[in-house]
Amino acid sequence: MHTAIAPRTRKVRVLATLGPASNTPEMIGRLFEAGADAFRINMSHGDQASKLPVIAAIRSLEARYRRPTTILADLQGPKLRVGAFAEGRVMLEAGQRFVLDREATPGDATRVMLPHREIFAAIARDARLLLDDGKLVLRVTEHDDDRIETIVEVGGALSNSKGLNVPDVVLPMAALTDKDRSDLAFAVDQAVDWIALSFVQRPEDLAEARRLIGGRTALLAKIEKPSAVARLEEIVEACDGVMVARGDLGVELPPQSVPPLQKRIVETARRMGRPVIVATQMLESMITAPTPTRAEVSDVATAVYDGADAIMLSAESAAGQWPVESVAMMDAIANAVERDPAHGDRVHFTVMKPDPTTADALAEAAKSISATVSAAAIICFTTSGSTARRIARERPSVPIMVLTPRAETARRLGLLWGVHAVHTKDVASFEEMIAKSKRMALRHNLARGGERVVVCAGVPFGTPGSTNVLHVTQIIGDELKNYAREA
Ligand code: PGA
Ligand code: MN
Repeated sequence: MHTAIAPRTRKVRVLATLGPASNTPEMIGRLFEAGADAFRINMSHGDQASKLPVIAAIRSLEARYRRPTTILADLQGPKLRVGAFAEGRVMLEAGQRFVLDREATPGDATRVMLPHREIFAAIARDARLLLDDGKLVLRVTEHDDDRIETIVEVGGALSNSKGLNVPDVVLPMAALTDKDRSDLAFAVDQAVDWIALSFVQRPEDLAEARRLIGGRTALLAKIEKPSAVARLEEIVEACDGVMVARGDLGVELPPQSVPPLQKRIVETARRMGRPVIVATQMLESMITAPTPTRAEVSDVATAVYDGADAIMLSAESAAGQWPVESVAMMDAIANAVERDPAHGDRVHFTVMKPDPTTADALAEAAKSISATVSAAAIICFTTSGSTARRIARERPSVPIMVLTPRAETARRLGLLWGVHAVHTKDVASFEEMIAKSKRMALRHNLARGGERVVVCAGVPFGTPGSTNVLHVTQIIGDELKNYAREA
């Protein structure tokens, strides 16, 4: 049965991570109704088989709500962990010595195994080892192929398999672990729309994933290492989208360096026409409380004012007590910011210079014309989605309705600012293009009688990469009646 939900005119997208608190078809439906545009499946938790019903539940929304769904599969990446302790847990005191080695015997308060051989080769004197999300800090004094000797700078409790961050050196590790390769093949097989790579250090890290994916899904780079920040432009160039992964970024770097980096990553991605997600701790207190702190509300608002494509919920929607309320809160904050008359000016604080291409010339013109004639929407006919990406990059003040004959394109575009993608048959003539534009704008409540829409398409029709037509058309009263009857 097809269920109608109110048209969603919000520009910024809401990405909700699924997990034990939200994995059921019922909850996925409720999150979608509350405002989730796209769903993140975290491959760090649970096995592949447990993801199958989740993917099926997300896709089943398409028939129910007649709207494409978007799935991002997030690979764990080379997450580093220490070994186990004889007692399960030790206390490290500031000033004491502590050794990481390669012996499998359980650790104690003087040593523990570090099961990642690459670190021994790459580590340097004075480099820091951060344990348990940066709660403990060790400083390297001596190292060889089998031992890393350290002084504890910040002490605390350390237990089995806690995470380790090594921010000061580039580790010669493959970006994909064996688990990642298997999860990637699974995700491609399941036809997810985006695959995210964790702990990217270099642009080359994206190459192997690209090769394995073979164009079947889009590739997103999570920026969570200082080494990735150092080569940001090259990494953004090499991927289809980026995430400001503030969790690990704020462990590897002091937390106060995260806001300026967030601004820089969002701006760089926007300039280069790659969708950018701001992630982690956005409504953290809603894991256990039905309302957020004012500071969290302000943080979400900042990402929206910065013109990010998407804002993400992590544990709030995956494992918290208030998943639906968290999504509804993000939706409400985004709507409030986008209704602020100053929103447009703030978003355009990042100035876009078009590339010298026909697509960019038309994208820029579509934005400018839609503002000049107060059009209700920009309608974009596209096969690959590339024209839609360039129009979204312009951040026009009106919704971008994308009409595409490819379901994969419609789904992939679900992470893009302002895009309302519709999977529909291609048109064969100019007249059909105009008629369909008006009909679809009305049917999806993006325009009313008397309003204009700006249409962007490629002639000859059905030839990918040929966008070369911009047309302004007005929906007049008589047509309105016809279309209303038809819809
Ligand atoms: P994670 O990535 O949730 O997979 O760690 C996001 C982050 O680090 O912010
Ligand atoms: Mn992370």
